[in-house]
Amino acid sequence: MWLCFAERSNSSGRARVRILPLHPQPQPDEILSSWMVRLAFANGFPLHTFYANLLGYKAPIWNRDTDRHPATALLDVLSRCTGQIPATLQTLTLGAYDGILFEQLPLIGNASWVLPVGVFHRTRRRAGMQFCPICLQLDITPYYRRHWRLALYAMCEHHQCVMQEYCPSCNTPVAYHRHGIGRRKAIPEQALRLCHLCGFDLRRTRPVYLDWPDGYSWLLFGATISFFEQGAWDCGRLTPACGVPFFQGFHTLVTVINGRHGHQLRQLLGKTFGMTIGTDHPASRHIEFENLNAFERLKLLLAATWLLDDWPNRFIALCSEAKFTRSRMAENVHNLPFWLANVVDEYLDCRPYIPNEHEIIAAGHYLDTHEQPVSPSALSQLLGLSRDIADAAWRLWQRHSCSVPKKPHGSI
Ligand SMILES: [Zn+2]
Ligand SMILES: [Zn+2]
Repeated sequence: MWLCFAERSNSSGRARVRILPLHPQPQPDEILSSWMVRLAFANGFPLHTFYANLLGYKAPIWNRDTDRHPATALLDVLSRCTGQIPATLQTLTLGAYDGILFEQLPLIGNASWVLPVGVFHRTRRRAGMQFCPICLQLDITPYYRRHWRLALYAMCEHHQCVMQEYCPSCNTPVAYHRHGIGRRKAIPEQALRLCHLCGFDLRRTRPVYLDWPDGYSWLLFGATISFFEQGAWDCGRLTPACGVPFFQGFHTLVTVINGRHGHQLRQLLGKTFGMTIGTDHPASRHIEFENLNAFERLKLLLAATWLLDDWPNRFIALCSEAKFTRSRMAENVHNLPFWLANVVDEYLDCRPYIPNEHEIIAAGHYLDTHEQPVSPSALSQLLGLSRDIADAAWRLWQRHSCSVPKKPHGSI
């Protein structure tokens, strides 16, 4: 096993570094794992041989989600042998969305907007990666984009087709890092266009399109997925300048529509668009947004975008018709960004008004000094209370008036 490294000076010019004979540049928006696989194949080696034996990086790479938090040592090795600086390599990872889609990508566990890969040994239980067959067709060297890992990116911004996650021939999740496993021979760099299991040419996957009836929300969503890194999002008067609160609220919208209390919302949205929106089967009701297929995600994202298009009017009207109240937002309600919390608190809060002790006593004194009997119905009318709460308020007043000596009317 032999590889002829080229020697050259490092950036300071003081030391000699060994550069791989072939070190393809990362393509625009290429994700780290795609580039790493191309790097090995371009140099004519299978992945394990290339990284463990030739570059001497023995730690595990492919049985984890390398695109989330790659080890610093791995980036150092890649940097040394390709001349790419580690900071550039960091931009190929999903951490590049820190401060835009999330505050900081969590080290472990599910992350909002990131498609989980469900790694089990080297196999992946979930797709995690998507592809657009037309983009792959048009690539001179096929490669996988960083934003194809996002649940937000359910359709191709260039070709408007629904993103694909599985080989249409054998239904296996896309896993280009598995090319050549168990084989010692070299894999061509072009192999990324093929299914690793059955060899189907993924460029021949028939594109699927969604016939969405509302043109404006379609355009708006297209603009969001195309330019969100540049700040393209809109939720009306309170649109935040930073992406994190916008995408937190946007994620809440798709989650509550698809959530266990969202049945009526789904029904009404389904009627509006003439298609099913979200999952309504009892067994699949708790599926997280990131675990839905691209087609289901796209419909939910477009429905949420349609609500944002005339924010908050459509949302308020929909919630009112569906009898969807603040409490129905359940676990999400205390963690909403201001632009959404503001609307939810003002328009969806149907909790009964419960006056405090001071307000009840003040109301009792008011009735008393106006020579009106203090009764549950009088308190109910004065404070706008329900019958039960007015009864409780009246009992409190009774206790208070018994404990305080009554002054004759007109005394000071
Ligand atoms: Zn495309
Ligand atoms: Zn296949």
